[in-house]
Formats: sequence, structure tokens, C-alpha cells
Amino acid sequence: MYSVLNENIQYVKGVGPKKADKMAKLGIFTIEDALLYFPRQFEDRSVEKEILYLEEGEKVAVKGKIEKIQNKKIRKLDITEFVIDDGTGTVKLIFFNKSYLKNTFRIGDIVKVFGAVKIDKFGNIEMNNCEIEYEKTSKNIGIIVPVYPLINGVNNKEVMGVIRNIFDTSEVVIEEYMPERIIKEHGLCDINFAIRNMHFPVKKNNVKIAMYRLIFEELLFMQLGLFSIKGGNKISKGISFEKKKDLYEIEKRLPFRLTKAQKKAYQEILNDMSSRKVMNRLIQGDVGSGKTVIAQLALANAVLNGYQGAYMAPTEILAKQHYESFISFFKGTDMRVSLLTGSTTKKNSKDILEKLKKGDIDIIIGTHALLEDKVEFNNLGLVITDEQHRFGVRQRAKLTTKSISPDVLVMTATPIPRTLALILYGDLDISVIDELPPGRKLIETISIQKKNRENLYRNNIRKEIEKGHQVYVVCPLVEESEVLDVQSATEVYEELQRIYFSDLKVGLLHGKMKASEKDNIMDKFKNHEIDILVSTTVIEVGVNIPNATVMIIENAERFGLAQLHQLRGRVGRGSSKSFCILIYDSKSDVCRKRMSIMEESNDGFKISEKDLEIRGPGDFFGTRQHGLPELKVANLFKHIKILKIAQAEARKIYAVDPGLLLDENSGVRKKVEYMFRNIGDNISL
Ligand code: ADP
Ligand code: MG
Repeated sequence: MYSVLNENIQYVKGVGPKKADKMAKLGIFTIEDALLYFPRQFEDRSVEKEILYLEEGEKVAVKGKIEKIQNKKIRKLDITEFVIDDGTGTVKLIFFNKSYLKNTFRIGDIVKVFGAVKIDKFGNIEMNNCEIEYEKTSKNIGIIVPVYPLINGVNNKEVMGVIRNIFDTSEVVIEEYMPERIIKEHGLCDINFAIRNMHFPVKKNNVKIAMYRLIFEELLFMQLGLFSIKGGNKISKGISFEKKKDLYEIEKRLPFRLTKAQKKAYQEILNDMSSRKVMNRLIQGDVGSGKTVIAQLALANAVLNGYQGAYMAPTEILAKQHYESFISFFKGTDMRVSLLTGSTTKKNSKDILEKLKKGDIDIIIGTHALLEDKVEFNNLGLVITDEQHRFGVRQRAKLTTKSISPDVLVMTATPIPRTLALILYGDLDISVIDELPPGRKLIETISIQKKNRENLYRNNIRKEIEKGHQVYVVCPLVEESEVLDVQSATEVYEELQRIYFSDLKVGLLHGKMKASEKDNIMDKFKNHEIDILVSTTVIEVGVNIPNATVMIIENAERFGLAQLHQLRGRVGRGSSKSFCILIYDSKSDVCRKRMSIMEESNDGFKISEKDLEIRGPGDFFGTRQHGLPELKVANLFKHIKILKIAQAEARKIYAVDPGLLLDENSGVRKKVEYMFRNIGDNISL
């Protein structure tokens, strides 16, 4: 069947090269692009009233005869006034800098206008800068008008005109791609109804019906795409681990009692592990909530059942830190733990790889290095990824292919709102550790303006160091950048060492250093050979140095609140009171609000919610932030109900036809492929 959809927009009636260029700016090249260019909202201009019944403030349409036209200039302002009469009363229309109108209309013309009504105390009615059209040829008044997202140089009437002409001149027929079963079961309208009513709805309710269909399908396609990337939640047969007696012995080694929340998460993991189903669980817990020990216990459980375990961390620093903590935790047991990272020597790594393959290593801890093809296991039973938002989905999936169907546990401290979690982790069960271990001292957060920075370093920080404590200073960029005007870590490092702390030891850590250099610096900081560590955000996740009591963040306004919260979590790990100092260089209200949220709250989830409130959902829910396709109609904040329905449907489809290879799913497959066409391996969940 011939379809006009792929035709160039330029050949639509009334669209020449010039208008086509404008449309191109909006990403509209073909007729289909135009039809899928949905309005942001609608303006209901369908309510028409007689002048007698107009009310102050309302926006309505009025029809009347022009009685008077007048033009005057006040300073630079050009004012055109019309008076219209409909037999029940008169309205004065006032236009600014639209003097051409006095030549477009004549006294006696019947016009339709739409605008906001203003009534003064004497009952005089006015409308300022209203829409005005001849009654006979009126197109945009008396209907529900789409309001399109625009950019400079293109106005709403132009977009509306193009789309109207498409509907008026071509026979627009879009082939239905949604399987009939789904349309019926979910009461969806057909695609042609949806598209037409997304632009020119006859009734308000039609917009709702059209939107529902489009939101539903967008979320359905998103979820199906994610399932196909992540391997979906296939209910494959997994390992059934028993809880061995020796696990109680290992639990007894803990130097503390698990918190209630930890116990609950641990129990959920043990249940999953013992079931025949493959475990796919996300542990979400704020920084410092104690996720590591849960991982250790789960790994111990796998090993006691005769399997191997792998634990993948996003940075070398963290992998090494975990390794050390595992070694000390399992000291005196016969648990064989090894570390494999990019900087493991060739000789060592060869030895480790051999042992892994033979089954002579029980737990391997490492970085991305674990994903390489040469890493083979004897019988991998449990895979844990820590701070997994740093890993691509495909990467995470890769580790699980190193065995037939290992259980999977992912851990994150990223407090993402519930809706986003629902779609991102649609294939995972979630445990939340929403409680910090007892006795944790609250970190006091103070924000200061940049002008007070010198005093901070000279006095407060010096005093803290004199008490024997250590300090982190985090800067946003590594190298000097004139463009961003941010002090680089290197610069700050030199400044601190030379000017304020020439008698102390200042260290520098950033992402461009070699792993061995980073290790060296971290070791020195840990051994208190460094007092102040200036660093970029490489320090962000997981690092644990209890003697560090101050976290200073330079140009704090440049960070997301969730990230500030993560950074703050690097201190407050010992017995002394800790501080987080946010140095900001901005006078904006938003900045001040964000700083005060940080001062007032220590709860990662609350902080991310507040951040969302201030920044608005567009920014925060930017699915782009996670490397996901952009949603055009659905809003993860508002449409949680539809999301759940679409997700259930996606599961159903996926269970029967994971590759979307059935005839009835071929249209859906094309849509999903199109939606994910630009999504690469860097998609991160
Ligand atoms: P995160 O969840 O950020 O990874 P960690 O696992 O690094 O947190 O734990 C932070 C600190 O809290 C560690 O020093 C750990 O030993 C300690 N910890 C964990 N659980 C408890 C507990 N139940 N009671 C006391 N301290 C705990
Ligand atoms: Mg951790």
C-alpha cells in the first residue's frame, strides 16, 4: 500500500522550502514526523459566550460585529483598538504593536475573537492581544487548539497550519501496528483516531482517549526494549542454595548486630537463593546503610554450597577496598578470595585465571576486568555488582553469561524515585535498606559562599586537622577550564599546599591518574600520611576512611543533590563528629534552596525527591540521564498507573514471544527497534 507518511513535508500544500526549513528545525522532515510532533498541551477555545455573560478572568471565544477601529501611538507603543458588539454588549479589543490589524479588518466585519476577559468596576469589558479571525474563515477559534513545543523563529500557528494541511489534503492512513488482542484487552483507540485527536480533537475527552493509547504504547515499547536488552525476566531454572550450618558460624563473626533493614534484605536474598528461580534482586540502600556485609554473607552462602561468587565494583579503589574488607572478614576460614583488576600484573592475573577455572578460588572481587572473555569460572553461582548504576546493562548481563544461570544481586545507593525504579528495574525484585546502623553520628552540613572560603581553610579546617582528623576536598573538574570557570582539582591542590597548608601534607587524586598512582595516594590517605586529599568525584562511591571527618565540596552548585549526598557519605564513618561543607558560587534562588535542602536533610530519598521538586520532572526524569530513549508523551512522574499496566502486558508478551518474532508482534517489534535505534552499550541502569 502506498503511504504518504514518508513524503517530504515540503510537498504538503502551503509548505514551501522556507517553511520546510523551519519545520526541519523542529526535527520535522516527513509527514510522519509532523504527525508525531505532539502538542505540549491544548488550549480550549471551543467555549463561545455572549458578551452579556462574560466573566472576569475567563478565557473564552466571542463573536461580534466591529463597530469601531482606532489607532494611536503612546511613546513607542503602537496601540490598535477595536470595539465589537454582539447585540448583548460590547467588548473593547486592545492590540499592542499590531497596527496591521487596522488594515486587515473593517468596520462592519463579523469576527470571532478569543482571549482573557477583563472587566473594570464600571462594567467595561476588554480583551488584550486576543486572537482575532473573520467569522467566515475562522479556523483557530471555536476549537480545541494544540500548543506545540516551539523554538525561536517558529510559531504555533505555523506548526498548526502545516499539520492541518496534511489532514486536509492527504488521506492520512496509518497502518495499525498494535495487535488486536492488546487493543481489545486494554480498550485502546486505534492509531488513526489517536493521531488525529492529538492534534485536532473534536472534544476534550478525545484527547484523553488518544493520550492513553499513546502513553500506553510508549511505556510498553520502552519496557519491551529494556527486557530485550536485559534478557527480560525469564523464569529460568536456577540454582537452589541451601542454608548451611556453617553460615551461622560466619554470621557470628560479624562485629555488630545487623539492623532490622539489613536482616530483612538478607532474608529476602536467602529466600531467593534457596528457591529454584534465578535470583534477580536489587538492594537499594543509602550510603553507609551496610550493603557490603550483606553481599559478603550472600557470597559465603554460595561458596558453602560449593559454588563460586563474583563481586564487581565500578572502580579499582573500591574493588581493592572490598577485597581488603573480605580478607579480614573471612580471616581464619578457608574461604579463598582474590582480586582481579586492570592493574593486576600479567603473571598474577594468569595465575588467578587458572585457579578460577579450576575452582581454586571461591570469591573473585574485581572491576570491569572480570568481564573479559578470558575470565572463566569453574561453577559461578552468584554474581554481585556494586553501585551498579556505573555499569551498563549489557555489561552486567555479560557477567551472568559466565555460568548457566547464576543468581544475581545488584546494589545501589542511588536514590531514584519509585516510578523510575519501576521501569528501569522492571525485571528485578527490590529490597530496600532504609535504616542506618545505630550510633552513626549525624553529619552536620554547612553551606558557605565562596567569599568565606579563605577563612574556612585558614581557621576551621586547620583546627579540625590539629585535632588529628583528615579532610576531603572535592572539585568538579580535573584540568583548568576557562569555559566553565571552575577551579580544577590540580589548581586547588596547589593552592592549598602552597598557601594555606604548606606545613601539612596535601594529596591529589583524579581520574586521569594511573591506577597504581591512585592506589598509592589512597593508601597514604588511609595511613594518615596525607592530611588533606583534594580529588575529583572519583572519590564518590564507597570509599571508607573513618578518620576523615570533613568533606569540602568546591563549586557545590555544579553537582546534583544526589551526588552531593553520595559525596557526603564519605565522612561520618568514624566515632567523631563529621562535617560536610558546601562552597557555592551563585546568587540564584534555586542554588540557595538546593543548599538548604542539603543542610536540612540526611535522607537520600528525600533529597532526590526535593531536587525533583525544584528542578521539575523534565530534568530529573530525563530518561536520557540513564541513556534510555526519550519519552515523548509518557511522564514517569504522572503515569505510574499506566506504567504498571503496560509493564504487566510487556511481561506477558515477553513470556510468550521474547524476540517479538510472531506475526502479530511484528509491528510492535519495528516500533521497539525504532525507539531503541540510538541506544548503545552505555545505557546504564
Ligand atoms: P554501604 O551501604 O554504603 O556500602 P558499608 O557496607 O560500606 O555501607 O557500611 C558502612 C559501614 O558501616 C562499614 O564500616 C560497616 O562495617 C558498618 N556497618 C555495617 N552494618 C553495620 C551494623 N549493622 N552495625 C554497625 N555497623 C555496621
Ligand atoms: Mg558500598
